Amino acid sequence: MKVVKFGGSSVADASQFKKVTDIIRSDDRRKVIVVSAPGKRNANDTKTTDLLISLGESINNGSKDEQIYNKVMDRFAEIAKDLNISGEVLGRIEKRIKEACEAVSRDYIAGLNALKSCGEDGTALLLSAYLQSSGLESSYVNPKEAGIFVSDEPGGALVLDESFDHLYELRRRDEILVIPGFFGYTPEGKLVTFSRGGSDITGSIVAAGVKAELYENFTDVDSVFCVNPTIVDNPKKLSTLTYKEMRELSYAGFSVFHDEALIPAFKEKIPVCIKNTNNPAGQGTMIVNKREEKDGHVIGIASDKGFLNLYVSKYLMNRELGFGRRLLQILEDEGISFEHAPSGIDDMSVIIREHQLPKEKEAVVTRRIAEELHVDTITVERDMAMIMLVGEGMNQTIGIASQAATAFRHANVNIEMINQGSSEVSMMFGIKSDGLASAVQSLYRTFFS
Ligand code: ASP
Repeated sequence: MKVVKFGGSSVADASQFKKVTDIIRSDDRRKVIVVSAPGKRNANDTKTTDLLISLGESINNGSKDEQIYNKVMDRFAEIAKDLNISGEVLGRIEKRIKEACEAVSRDYIAGLNALKSCGEDGTALLLSAYLQSSGLESSYVNPKEAGIFVSDEPGGALVLDESFDHLYELRRRDEILVIPGFFGYTPEGKLVTFSRGGSDITGSIVAAGVKAELYENFTDVDSVFCVNPTIVDNPKKLSTLTYKEMRELSYAGFSVFHDEALIPAFKEKIPVCIKNTNNPAGQGTMIVNKREEKDGHVIGIASDKGFLNLYVSKYLMNRELGFGRRLLQILEDEGISFEHAPSGIDDMSVIIREHQLPKEKEAVVTRRIAEELHVDTITVERDMAMIMLVGEGMNQTIGIASQAATAFRHANVNIEMINQGSSEVSMMFGIKSDGLASAVQSLYRTFFS
């Protein structure tokens, strides 16, 4: 049994629905289907989820934007019309959207979660109806019926363990099941969404729950590239990656697969295959537990902007019991999560995503650190970028760091920070954002040309 997830571009319009149906029909092991909301049809288009969020915001600001509401409905209506799907399905979609709009007026956060989920929900209803009309036996399955239970963290839900046993029951069903991605329910019955791009998470949870032989994730690229293709032209494609490598890559800028989506599949050792809906015959990229040829080389270069470095120094920091804990406690108190914390004898850097520490919060945090920890220096450096070299077995290979350092020198980019200890599959470099593209290009030449 395969669990197959189709991303937003794969369900963007009726012609994409037809491709999806052909893919499902071509392999009778494709039993459980998870869908995103209709994505962009072209570069200037807007994702349905973004429309729904804007709609929710307009309601919260006092007046529902009818234009956006109509745009959302038009997207579903157009697909339904082009696929000859009955008006009853569209009526069901409209009813849910209207109910969610009312929920937004009562409780913004909870209502917005319900409204956001309408994109995937409507898609699942339409796809299941279309599969039926194409002669395939199929049912729409709501995540509540499937037993996808999650924590009450709106927009950032985490799956609860009991979900997996519930999902296993789906194996009893004979027909093709279509489940909307991106949301689940708390045990109390409240609808909560995962973080953005979270249909990948649903797919992985479902694959783990039904113990699928394979989780296929259909998107709009042929495979995962070894580097961001907007920075390097025609980069090398990756045919096989390990879970750990994919996790590192998707954490820093590889948007092909949600970085939280791997864990459920990984725990059940279910291989994941990234494929292209527009080229289903292509090989795609397999994500597996172990890669046979561990040649010790770098397999990918991930990079992302939007970090800051909170730097503190204090003479004899190494002798001061509990310094690191107290520093991190201040961040915890202020609700800030950090990404990395490389340290020296008398200093410590804490790398944080910039959006976590807006200027107002920065003032509070730096004042508290100065007053409570009596540090000698404290600075906040913004506009930082992280570059990660990724590859299992890389840490066993002599000379990677020196080759990387040479590549940075050729690009004339100063390395502000190096961190390897945190992971055996990656080596991380902190630089100023403006040097990102040239550094990545130089690293690509070094490791892949
Ligand atoms: N539709 C949601 C989003 O745009 C979830 C997803 O596509 O996976 O974030």
